[in-house]
Amino acid sequence: MPNPEMSRRELLHAAGTAAVAATLPGVGRAHQDPPKPVGWAVLGLGGYAIRQIMPSFADAKLSKLVAVITGTPEKGVRAREQYGLKESSVYSYEQWDAIRSNPEIEVVYVISPPGTHREFTLEAIKAGKHVCCEKPMANTVAECDEMIAAAKRAKKLLQIGYRSHYQPHNLAAIEACRKSLGTLRSITSEHGFNMPAGTWRTQRKLSGGGALWDIGIYGVQAARYLAGAEPTEVMAMAHRLGQPRFDEVDDVTHMLLAFPGVVASVSTGYSWANANTYRVIGDRGQLYASPATSYQGHRLWINNREVAIEPNNHFAAQMDHLSEVIRNGGTLRTPGEMGRQDIRILEAAVTAARQRGPVRLEG
Ligand code: NAD
Repeated sequence: MPNPEMSRRELLHAAGTAAVAATLPGVGRAHQDPPKPVGWAVLGLGGYAIRQIMPSFADAKLSKLVAVITGTPEKGVRAREQYGLKESSVYSYEQWDAIRSNPEIEVVYVISPPGTHREFTLEAIKAGKHVCCEKPMANTVAECDEMIAAAKRAKKLLQIGYRSHYQPHNLAAIEACRKSLGTLRSITSEHGFNMPAGTWRTQRKLSGGGALWDIGIYGVQAARYLAGAEPTEVMAMAHRLGQPRFDEVDDVTHMLLAFPGVVASVSTGYSWANANTYRVIGDRGQLYASPATSYQGHRLWINNREVAIEPNNHFAAQMDHLSEVIRNGGTLRTPGEMGRQDIRILEAAVTAARQRGPVRLEG
């Protein structure tokens, strides 16, 4: 539908074309041979890897699945057959020497539980590979620091799997926040669902936290990219149902993040029906997204009118962005430092909730 403040064409240009141009190889050098695709190894063949990431290589322009690293040999065989991988390209978590000596692998995509991200990222960097690491980056800021330092020392890239930065509805929302909503006055976000007991997500050592680390991080991320700034102070209240699934991890947390000039209210829960939204109110306009950061089916309303935006395969766009930077240089859109800042905010929220008072984020 037409939008008085930003036409569909403008939005598509801002959200789609710009993002695609930024991630596609060969743009602006039509007469050269296309660059060789970057070889990726997926580590951890769980739900996200199998259902979202591995099939998305088919839509990638500069990223090729060349290997898998798994603790379950049968999953490796299935992946090899499905994706036509070489027999020698199925590795266990112990085979880092072999991975190091396979030049086809340029990136290791770490898609295992967060409590393992530090160890696998450090191993992959030691093996001479770039890393894409899934969210949340790690359990603690200290672990994030180790990962960032290791990548720097080895001159390797470290990308965090923040796919919303490559997704056109989210890019259109960012564009509207910068250009058409006026001065931002309020940001709210809810992300949650009902998490059953019995997986790594309810074990602190493997998950880092509960809803906050797993899904609340989307709201923290959204608040940061919509505000286009960093919070200076965090307040939080938390509560959890007296159920075994919350023995080790958090359930509901409500955070207030103070950004310069605007406060964001970010809420998350593991005992909720599905929620995946954000709303921004400026002094000249407002937007609402729901689902805002899901795998598909994104919807965005600007000034109460739904905006039509062509979806993309943002999993592929995310991977192609890292591949593009590897081949042609440039700045990573979602680097390790961005992942670290989110963990820092989550740690501050836990402290704020515990001490029932605000936590300042200096610097
Ligand atoms: P999952 O439980 O479906 O899969 C986890 C995989 O890691 C399994 O194959 C498991 O065998 C393997 N693994 C490796 N070491 C392990 C260990 N020590 N303990 C347990 N399992 C181990 O989980 P998932 O949903 O695929 O999540 C994996 C990662 O991807 C998490 O960091 C999660 O936050 C992230 N994720 C991101 C998105 C996104 O949209 N960006 C979506 C889902 C999951």
